[in-house]
Amino acid sequence: MKTIGMLGGMSWESTVSYYKAVNEGVKQALGGLHSAKIALYSVNFEEIEKLQRVGDWDKAGVILGEAAKSIQAGGADFLLICTNTMHKVLPQIEEQIDIPVLHIADATANKLIEDGISKVGLLGTAFTMEQDFYKRRISEKFGIEVIVPEHEEREVVHRVIYDELCQGQILSESREQYINIIDNLRRQGAEAVILGCTEIALLVEQQHTQVALYDTTKIHAEAAVKQALSN
Ligand code: GLU
Repeated sequence: MKTIGMLGGMSWESTVSYYKAVNEGVKQALGGLHSAKIALYSVNFEEIEKLQRVGDWDKAGVILGEAAKSIQAGGADFLLICTNTMHKVLPQIEEQIDIPVLHIADATANKLIEDGISKVGLLGTAFTMEQDFYKRRISEKFGIEVIVPEHEEREVVHRVIYDELCQGQILSESREQYINIIDNLRRQGAEAVILGCTEIALLVEQQHTQVALYDTTKIHAEAAVKQALSN
């Protein structure tokens, strides 16, 4: 079994979900007392969030690059960056390491392709919904059209992530707001919606809506288990 490198803590609330999902995946595949081999580095998210807010992505890239180097030194065979947003600094991280990175958007897009989805809605932080590093990868590399909520809705989605979900608060009012936003995306032709932030599934689950949801945490963790168990 390969060792899964995990760059987590962004936020730790979602790293818990990753940790559980990869261990459950390995147990399901191998049974008994089998569990995942993991090299985890969990950052202090307060430091990273401050840098995001002021737009100092270079500094954030340096911190995450150093962390990734430690994960490699800790024996990881490949790396998961356990957040959609911080894939923005993937080039800086990759510069620091030799092991491959399993990209969260690639894992998700592969699943969408498998399911024949050609137009998808995307929820995530404002960075993920508005900038190119994520959306363009899915549209250009995989040929899937990506749509995002309108401006006010994006503000809601973003605020709930940082003020609630990353702080362990799960509120039913916010779930209602998310469900309405998901419905609006469906009305605009989205055949499915990507939960493109690793905390969103803590709030909205498939049982809450008819729209097909693609939870990036779950998909990323499943892809990692597959890679860890492949030859
Ligand atoms: N975990 C989130 C994501 O998947 C947001 C926190 C962050 O900015 O890293 O994008």
